[in-house]
Amino acid sequence: MAITDKVYLKNHRQLVSQVETSFPKSAFAGATLDILFQGEGLAKLDDATQDRVLDFAETFLDCDCQSNPHCGCPERKFVRYLLELREQGLGPDAIVDVIGDEYMLYAYPGDVLSFLDDSVRTLEAAETLADVDGQPHKARELRRLREGLLR
Ligand SMILES: [Zn+2]
Repeated sequence: MAITDKVYLKNHRQLVSQVETSFPKSAFAGATLDILFQGEGLAKLDDATQDRVLDFAETFLDCDCQSNPHCGCPERKFVRYLLELREQGLGPDAIVDVIGDEYMLYAYPGDVLSFLDDSVRTLEAAETLADVDGQPHKARELRRLREGLLR
C-alpha cells in the first residue's frame, strides 16, 4: 500500500457535516478528491477550513491532465513533498506535525518511517542498477538523493 493510501483528513467528521455528503477519511481516495476538493463541496466549508482545503487543491491537484484529479499526479506530488520535508531534516513525527498544520492531514509516524525507509532502499537499488549499467553520473545523482534522505 502506498503512503498516500495512509494519509487521512484530520477533522473528517466535521468536514463531512459541513459538506453534507459522506466521503472517505482517506485524503487521496477518489471520492474524497471529487467531493471535498472540487466545486460544491468546497463552497460549503467554513472560511478557515476552505483555506486549508484550497491550499491542498492548489498544491497537489493543479495539473492539466484530462483525468484530473484521478491521474496520479496528486499522489506523486505529495510523495515528493514528503521527501522534501525529509531532506530539510525532519523526522517522521515532525513530518506528521507539518502536514497537520499545513493541510489538516494526518498519518501515523510509523507509516511515514516505513515510507522513508522504502524510498532509501528504492534509491539504493536504482543506484546499484545504474552502476552495473555503466552510468556513473546517474549513480552519483541517485546517491546524492539517498544521502539527502539519510541526513
Ligand atoms: Zn495529472
